[in-house]
Amino acid sequence: MRQSQLFTKTRKEAPKDEVSKNAELLIRGGFVHKEMAGVYSYLPLGLRVIKNIEQIIREEMNEIGGIEMKTSILQNKEIWEKTNRWDDAVVDNWFKSKLKNGGEVGLSFTNEEAYSNILKQYVSSYKDLPVYPYDFKEIFRNEVRTKSGIMRGREFYWKALYSFSKDESEHNAFYEKAKVAYQNIFKRVGIGHLTYETFASGGVFSKFSHEFQTVTPVGEDTIYLDEKSGVAINKEVLNDEVLKSLGLDREKLVEQKAIEVGNIFSLGTRFAEPFDLNYKNENGEEQLVIMGSYGIGLGRLMGTIVEVLSDENGIVWPKSIAPFRAHLVLLGSNDEAKDLAEKTYKKLIQEGIEVFFDDRDVRAGEKFADSDLIGIPTRIIVGDKTVENSSFEIKDRASGEVSQKTLEELISELK
Ligand code: ATP
Ligand code: MG
Repeated sequence: MRQSQLFTKTRKEAPKDEVSKNAELLIRGGFVHKEMAGVYSYLPLGLRVIKNIEQIIREEMNEIGGIEMKTSILQNKEIWEKTNRWDDAVVDNWFKSKLKNGGEVGLSFTNEEAYSNILKQYVSSYKDLPVYPYDFKEIFRNEVRTKSGIMRGREFYWKALYSFSKDESEHNAFYEKAKVAYQNIFKRVGIGHLTYETFASGGVFSKFSHEFQTVTPVGEDTIYLDEKSGVAINKEVLNDEVLKSLGLDREKLVEQKAIEVGNIFSLGTRFAEPFDLNYKNENGEEQLVIMGSYGIGLGRLMGTIVEVLSDENGIVWPKSIAPFRAHLVLLGSNDEAKDLAEKTYKKLIQEGIEVFFDDRDVRAGEKFADSDLIGIPTRIIVGDKTVENSSFEIKDRASGEVSQKTLEELISELK
């Protein structure tokens, strides 16, 4: 993409009411637009990052047997009454609306009811199980606090997978696989080293759920971390009995602020019961289906990555999710340099490399500042010297390292 054709521009300042670093940098870089508190639009650069994150999650979900689908956002009151989750006195963050011809609808704040209701239509025998459907979807929650930028939205984009298993042991085996898939996701998006699988509050059917918590001072949660074993516990569930049941020593735990980037839950028969979601086993006996839920907020994940990986000059995207792999920056207005930059741009595209081409007629200082802010992993400079030496000056955004490379060397590195 040519930078001259991108309608978004970088900004020196973020809106005054924006207090979080992630939203400040993402707004200044032209990744997101703030519509109102807790509601953001994704601009072309931001959407490219979200799509890359989405693809990594999709690959890891498919790897463990996930099947992608799409549930509706408008939700039927009756199905939520079955589980006693329609009433505002029970669920305090609904967005609801009235239909013109009478009746009410809700905007999805989660997906258990929708999936249980759909699966009820298709599951009747042990032969139909297990199944692992999932979707990427806009979720709506009437959150009270929205100070964390895109990490806490009133409208946000998530992935939710639901597991439908025949029994506890089949469920547990999948649950363990899902943990590994989650660890892979956080590694692949560049925050594996800061993200801990954390014991968190469970529900009626399980003592714990597992959160994936990324350590950062701006986190809204508090976790206690045993640095040696990597075991972490959410403050919500920390007590002597829990510490004892895991072999953990309260002295040795380190308190950390963290942000919950993902959460996986064993649901038992909490939803299968009200929906009569059962199947006939091999002996012809009716059994309730055992469910689990597995969520990740994509916007929250993107915001967290910005929080933990940016520096004083801007965002530092990991290669796996960067909006582009390389930022080709043309300096000066010399015709030969211009020609070389155009040729290089075309060649890189031909080689299948995603490249952002700063072909604008602006000062070098402005180009460098924008390039640092936008945070593409590799910067390629084309100027008069490039023409003379027939080698490009390359700058690595993360390390700041500068090197000289021929076109061939550059292509083999970027591919
Ligand atoms: P929190 O405790 O932070 O409010 P939650 O436990 O209510 O989150 P879940 O219902 O577990 O959230 O949702 C699954 C995932 O969706 C979370 O792990 C998080 O990544 C993401 N998520 C939840 N709420 C939001 C939000 N308001 N904005 C962005 N992402 C969110
Ligand atoms: Mg949660």
